[in-house]
Amino acid sequence: MDAVLVINADLGPLHRVTVKHAIRMLCRRVAEIYEAEPDRVIGVFPLPRVVRLVRYVVTRWRFTTGPTWSRAGVLGRDGRRCAYCDGPASTIDHILPRSRGGRNTWGNTTAACYGCNQRKGDRTPAEAGMPLRREPVTPSWAALAR
Ligand SMILES: [Zn+2]
Repeated sequence: MDAVLVINADLGPLHRVTVKHAIRMLCRRVAEIYEAEPDRVIGVFPLPRVVRLVRYVVTRWRFTTGPTWSRAGVLGRDGRRCAYCDGPASTIDHILPRSRGGRNTWGNTTAACYGCNQRKGDRTPAEAGMPLRREPVTPSWAALAR
């Protein structure tokens, strides 16, 4: 009912808080009003429906395991760019190959183009002499929602 949606600085939804809590955030200037109820005020503030954090908050800590791993998620996280040559990527590379026990985890998978994936084969990036251009990380929910 009177819950206020908190959204991240990048507009990713985070959670709901009470109106009282939202007002405290406004007073502390950690959030600003993004959407308010017309014609209703609480003290000096319009009654907020949605407040937006002033600074981006990394949301990974909010979840013990993060979003569930998926191929589409990895491609999305990496912006469909190959981790090895930065070209357009359509495949998922296992950094430690699956044949050697590498698992489907955010940290062990990266977007790769077909050519690099084939070239790397059953080797690690170090063995193949193909350094990763970026560290594979667990994406935040907000990042995946974009
Ligand atoms: Zn490539």
